[in-house]
Amino acid sequence: MSADCLFCKIIAGDIPSQKVAETEHIVAFNDITPQAPTHLLVIHKQHTPSLSDSPDSLILGQWMSGVRDVAQQQQLSDYRVIVNNGTGAGQSVFHLHAHILAGRPLDWPPG
Ligand code: 5GP
Ligand code: ZN
Repeated sequence: MSADCLFCKIIAGDIPSQKVAETEHIVAFNDITPQAPTHLLVIHKQHTPSLSDSPDSLILGQWMSGVRDVAQQQQLSDYRVIVNNGTGAGQSVFHLHAHILAGRPLDWPPG
């Protein structure tokens, strides 16, 4: 828990969100500014600012397994998982999160 972190506040329920899944390890909720018909954010409950802050493999495994499980529960077959690392790559919230995008054609390579 990081006191000034938006996503930690969402985990705690101090800021409302539309949660679609929650386990012992992860929370998944709708992005407030969806970029596709389905746009979910999946976060680990343990605060880590970004991927390059190297959470241990156990945390990474729990988190990415959570991404897979949420996609399955939402019955998504074709989807994209995005992790923005650093401001220059588009990261704006510094609590490690995966975007799951689905429901429209997704260009490759991304812009
Ligand atoms: P980033 O830019 O760090 O990769 O992604 C942060 C995401 O968090 C953005 O897609 C943004 O729309 C989303 N976001 C920012 N504030 C809130 C909020 O208060 N609630 C929810 N549900 N999503 C948020
Ligand atoms: Zn946090």
